[in-house]
Amino acid sequence: MPKSIPLRLLLLLLPALAACRQEPPPPPARHLVLVTVDTLRADHVGAYGGDVATPNLDRLAQEGALVHQASTHVPLTRPAHVALMSGRLPQETGIRDNVSPAALPPQPLLAEVLRQAGFATAAFVSSAVVARASGLDRGFDVYGDDFHADPADPSFLDRAQKRGDLTLAEALAWLEQQRQGKRLFLWLHLYDPHDPYEPPEPYAARYAERPYAGEVAFSDALIGELDAALSRLGLAAGTLLVVTSDHGEGLGEHGERLHGFFVYESTLRVPLIARGPGVTPGTELDGPVGLVDLYPTLLERLGVAPPAGVELAGRSLASAWAGRGEPPPRPLYAESLVPRLHFGWSELRVARDGWWKYVEAPRPELYDLEHDPHEERNLVAQERRRARALRDAVAAFRAREQAAETTQDVDPQWLEQLHALGYVGGSSPASTRDPGADPKDKIDEFRLANEAMREGLERLHQRDFAASVARFESLLERGIESAELHLYLGRALLGQRRFADAAGHFQEAAARTPTYVGAWLGLAEAYAQQGDADAALAALRGGRQAMPDNVALRREEARLLRLLGRPHEARRALASALELAPRDAFLHAALAEVLAELDEPKAAIAELRRAVELEPEGARYWNALGMRLIAAGELAEAERAFRRASLLAPGDPRYGYNLALALLNLKRPVEARLILQRVLAVAPDFAPARERLAALDD
Ligand SMILES: [Zn+2]
Repeated sequence: MPKSIPLRLLLLLLPALAACRQEPPPPPARHLVLVTVDTLRADHVGAYGGDVATPNLDRLAQEGALVHQASTHVPLTRPAHVALMSGRLPQETGIRDNVSPAALPPQPLLAEVLRQAGFATAAFVSSAVVARASGLDRGFDVYGDDFHADPADPSFLDRAQKRGDLTLAEALAWLEQQRQGKRLFLWLHLYDPHDPYEPPEPYAARYAERPYAGEVAFSDALIGELDAALSRLGLAAGTLLVVTSDHGEGLGEHGERLHGFFVYESTLRVPLIARGPGVTPGTELDGPVGLVDLYPTLLERLGVAPPAGVELAGRSLASAWAGRGEPPPRPLYAESLVPRLHFGWSELRVARDGWWKYVEAPRPELYDLEHDPHEERNLVAQERRRARALRDAVAAFRAREQAAETTQDVDPQWLEQLHALGYVGGSSPASTRDPGADPKDKIDEFRLANEAMREGLERLHQRDFAASVARFESLLERGIESAELHLYLGRALLGQRRFADAAGHFQEAAARTPTYVGAWLGLAEAYAQQGDADAALAALRGGRQAMPDNVALRREEARLLRLLGRPHEARRALASALELAPRDAFLHAALAEVLAELDEPKAAIAELRRAVELEPEGARYWNALGMRLIAAGELAEAERAFRRASLLAPGDPRYGYNLALALLNLKRPVEARLILQRVLAVAPDFAPARERLAALDD
């Protein structure tokens, strides 16, 4: 196109071109920014007719395209995101719930395809459910999933998630660091509308009666900040900005408060808004769209070819976004396997065609969403032919079933974070008294089970062991049983010093899921506390049989053997652990202690030198090295080691004190006095330093 055509003429030409069907596709977008606002109901967004103030989403919808009937395939965070990022249905990926199986199938995820195409890729997520352990990190150069969650920390329950402003700040910092020239893919995951609803001010006050709405308004403000940053960085014009969600929220409809159990529109329907190159402003799509449609759509809009040999479940909406007509209708699929996987009740499967939606269940349901959007009139008896056709559609979707659920390699710590977020169940199917029950009859029981699991864990971390035991036992009494439940109950009983009872539950957990390290460690502790060292060691060795490559079990075995005064065996256990983890500084330091006990000081020093080499920031290893060097008369090196320790951990008075002692041994009392004064300035109550200083002054 000649340069002389003025810009305003170009703008005038555009609508005319869009009307022409033979016209070439619009130029691809350069960057992709994908925002998933967890648990965001479409009908709470202003652009969808909702009454929450969402000016930023509303503006994006005006500047871009809005899909009225977008649906998730599973109303649960991880499987929904996996469907979005893989372009495949849950029965094709095998990812049906939040935890198992741990590994995603090998087919390339969106980020992998884009990285392969030369994009810089980064994700910043706000919940443990989509942390690295979820498998969604594949293809991202940077994966921001640090929640600083330490299970030993009493505030741990709050830390399996992160407030959106913190996640956004990390995402913006990454955007600002990117050099020009590179194409970018950023995935921002916001978790605020997920329960518990605790919006910050001013949204808390503004929506005092409706905290969920407050979280929606807060999330909208964050999206506004993101969009402003894109403009500021000069990225807005070249960026395809897509906002959607993984599922909605029950908010009490059909008796469901949260999500993940039923498959009504309250939790299936999500917003889907896109703005950027190739998206005609003001476009609205009416036909049902699934999250799996995004994968081919985004790739087409970015001009990147989909991976060869992968059959995608969705179809591209790129033409529809450009205002060139919607793709022909076809059935959509959704499911909830949670009732079956975790309770042994019946599962729920959905096929939707246009406005008609069928729910396969012991008592099947059929809804006309156009005239009954809240699914209050089950028409299955009146519309038999329609129901049959959709039942056949469910069967066709079921035929795509591939992977079976496995119980392997789920990280128990991750699982516990998920339970802390209110998800009951886990990697092993729970038994129940009502096999095949219709979930419609079980919603109250499901809610109580979730609450009891969450409260039990909360009490456990608050060290209110009696209350914790009561919650977990109430689950068992209801006939709900799983490996994790036994594991948590065992830990609560340990806290109550009911060691024999605890051992029983750890045994049960280990029998159900032999790869639970925590079950074997708990069992060993329960026996050790009862004074039965042999049983404790046998428990650790039982765990070792189930997990030959587990370092923690060997480490614990060595610790126990040392306590029992069996250093030779402890040494062997540590040596075998080091074969598995030769770069584990802790193991080298532990071995050093055993060697010192066995009167091999030179070997002990060598192990500690290795420990500080592997972990030069480890103050306690430097301190331990200094102690051994002092004992061996190597004063100069000891001084250096203590100096390192006290520099690394200036708040710990022991390291400075040891340094002062080394200086005194080196006949340098003036320096020693200075160091002791510094120690006392940090820790005025540290008696040994005070006494030593007084002795020096005498
Ligand atoms: Zn979610």
